[in-house]
Amino acid sequence: MATFQTAVHDLSPKEREVRGEQLKRDGIVIRTYDIWKTYIMGDQEIHAVSGVEIEIKRGEYVAIMGPSGSGKSTLMNLIGCLDSPTKGLYYLNGKLASDMEDDELARIRNKEIGFVFQTFNLLARASALHNVELPLIYAGIPSSERLERARESLRAVDLEQRMHHKPNELSGGQRQRVAIARALVNRPSILLADEPTGALDSNTGNEIMALFERLHEDGNTIVLVTHEHDIANHANRVIHIRDGKVERDETTTKAATRSPMAGNEKF
Ligand code: ADP
Ligand code: MG
Repeated sequence: MATFQTAVHDLSPKEREVRGEQLKRDGIVIRTYDIWKTYIMGDQEIHAVSGVEIEIKRGEYVAIMGPSGSGKSTLMNLIGCLDSPTKGLYYLNGKLASDMEDDELARIRNKEIGFVFQTFNLLARASALHNVELPLIYAGIPSSERLERARESLRAVDLEQRMHHKPNELSGGQRQRVAIARALVNRPSILLADEPTGALDSNTGNEIMALFERLHEDGNTIVLVTHEHDIANHANRVIHIRDGKVERDETTTKAATRSPMAGNEKF
């Protein structure tokens, strides 16, 4: 692999394509090869992400953890196809996202990634059902199928009975569950969550973490970005980021420290 890393920037277009097909066959949804994001500030170069190599398989539950300013959001924006790397290769589900133009990037993002944000980002005037239906409208799905899938997605987060409520008629935890239902409705390859419990009290945060665990058990691939140990430890694997680099990549002892809420879906 070391040989490949050093040669990665020199691959021909055909070799890049072949590599993507191989990754897809191996069930690797996310693979970065030496990716960098460099910002120019005056006469200074800031390497927000510097030479990161990450590989995530289908069905994994991974936390990306690091202190403030370590490059988590920048890395998440790259993984989520919200931004392109300055240098390096990024394969998402076998496709070379780092080579894509903005419109193609938007398309793969909508298809492959379900985002969950700290502040929910729901439409205030729309019902839970309509919020969840929105990505399907953008995807051009016909209305009857849309409704069915949006309801199914709300059912997966135990909110079907609240589907006609607007965000201000729901609790913080319920709003985040609507946002998670919306992220799931397109059946994305990965669920990408940036500090999803950051705006919630700790009990509600635990409920959301229990929900992520259940979604993982249902087969979803989850990537969670956080600066909190307690949150990161819910994942099966923690990638520690510092100064834009991967400092450590560890498998957690989650089975031993499993939250008592897990498997007890009373929320
Ligand atoms: P985190 O999410 O871990 O707090 P960020 O990814 O937001 O870290 O930032 C990583 C580093 O990159 C920080 O030093 C930050 O100041 C810098 N940075 C982030 N975005 C920009 C930008 N648009 N322009 C210049 N520097 C940036
Ligand atoms: Mg951040």
